[in-house]
Amino acid sequence: MLMLPDYRVRQRDYLLEIARALTSRLDVSEVLRLILGASLAMLGGEVGLIALREAEDRFRARASVGVPPEKLHVFKPLLESIALDEQHGGIQYHQLDLKMRLVARALDMRLRQAITLPMLMGGQVLGVIFVFRSYVGEYSANDQSILQSFADQAAIAVHNAQLYERLSAEQQRLSAILEHSADGVLIMDASQRIIGFNKALERITGWSQAQALGQLHDSIIFWERVELGQPLGAALASGWAQRRGAEEDEPDTCYVEGDLRRRDGSRISLGITYTALFDDDGRLQNIIANVRDITHFRRAQEAKSAFISAISHELKTPVALIKGYASTLRREDAHWDEATVQRALAVIEDEADRLAGLIDNLLAASKLQAEGMRLTQIGEVDLIALIAQAAERLQTQSDKHRLIVQLPPDLPTIQGDAVRLRQVFDNLLSNAIKYSPDGGEIRISGSYDAHGVTISVSDQGVGIAPEDLPHIFERFYRADNALSRRTQGAGLGLYLANAFVKAHNGTISVESAPHKGSTFHVWLPRPPV
Ligand code: ADP
Repeated sequence: MLMLPDYRVRQRDYLLEIARALTSRLDVSEVLRLILGASLAMLGGEVGLIALREAEDRFRARASVGVPPEKLHVFKPLLESIALDEQHGGIQYHQLDLKMRLVARALDMRLRQAITLPMLMGGQVLGVIFVFRSYVGEYSANDQSILQSFADQAAIAVHNAQLYERLSAEQQRLSAILEHSADGVLIMDASQRIIGFNKALERITGWSQAQALGQLHDSIIFWERVELGQPLGAALASGWAQRRGAEEDEPDTCYVEGDLRRRDGSRISLGITYTALFDDDGRLQNIIANVRDITHFRRAQEAKSAFISAISHELKTPVALIKGYASTLRREDAHWDEATVQRALAVIEDEADRLAGLIDNLLAASKLQAEGMRLTQIGEVDLIALIAQAAERLQTQSDKHRLIVQLPPDLPTIQGDAVRLRQVFDNLLSNAIKYSPDGGEIRISGSYDAHGVTISVSDQGVGIAPEDLPHIFERFYRADNALSRRTQGAGLGLYLANAFVKAHNGTISVESAPHKGSTFHVWLPRPPV
């Protein structure tokens, strides 16, 4: 039997112990302390220290033996004297002996010899291991190889720990991104069992994470109506996410859109993109679902198509009237008396005005959306004259309504854009007429103080339901009642009036109740005196 020298046996035992510690995932500081302990025992050292390389190539003590942790600061000058020299296999020290003597004095210990070795991994210095002895002994080739074997183990421990730290930091970052993504993210294994379910999905589906995890996809994602694409089960059945070659790098996705039944039975409009992930052998491993709430998008689309049909209707009616009267007047077989001709021309003129007004509103709304509100021609505006003109013009359009203007004769002028302000009052007055189908009085009154001027327009019409009140200044909003279905409108008048008044730093408000009429108040600031 081969007899190993005593120190070889001990070294082997220590290395075994260290290897066990390394695999049993002990905390890296523990492993380093174990390595230091073994190094000291083998080399007859009193004090041991392992310093690891950190940012900007500075070294910091991470494990020590023989020194209380609160005294570790005494090694600072020593650690600062380390200079990296990776091209020549490690590091160099500046006046190592002197620094060791300083350490010894600070610790009140007799340290006479310092043995050091860099911890290397792939030519890179990860740290330094120090052994201090109280005597100056020979540092033999054996000592060197013993310390080297321990330094190698320490390098492995540190390297693993750093990899692990980086990996778990990356993992944490990824899960934080998933968890807080505004879109729902659902992760499934190959059998469609849910293994990931983020916060946004809880909000979207009404299921909690705890309820969803472990369930099958189809017990959480339940379509009431599919509008585009096909549900996951059908997509898989028709061959989606089949085994595929590693050379394809385009992601394998499929999309489905429609109304989903939430946990409480309510519906939500969703678009889901599924992405299939494959392992190296081309087998399906995971399916990731990206779930997006498309309610807003749907609503915008509905509003847009409602708007287009309303607008086409709005444009067609005056054009049809103009065309009808014009062709009647042109008939060669008929002779019209002067009064009839005048009446027909008046209708043509009114309808042309209405068309022009509508086109103005449309242009203003699209401009407002594209570039925000800008007042172009600011000047002194005489509201009394402006409102009188508007009332006169509108009075000609209706015999059933009586427009009564009661403004204080000394109503002060304001600074503003007359074209935009005329549009505001035109819209308010034509609404007052439009939404009082049985006629009645439309009263325009006013008041002022040092800060501003208030103009109020009240009618005796159908009024506005409380649930519509908060929305009537929104773009394309029309109260859903029998009258608004019968009357023409694009839901732009009040939206524009509000934007124009705001651009003047003013406010617009409304008081109304069903069948009690409506009163709109426009407040415009006066220029400071
Ligand atoms: P439009 O009249 O083209 O529908 P508006 O933006 O001018 O659009 O008005 C939005 C909605 O507010 C109208 O559809 C109507 O329901 C309501 N509304 C506006 N003015 C009045 C009013 N004077 N009386 C009753 N309802 C009104």
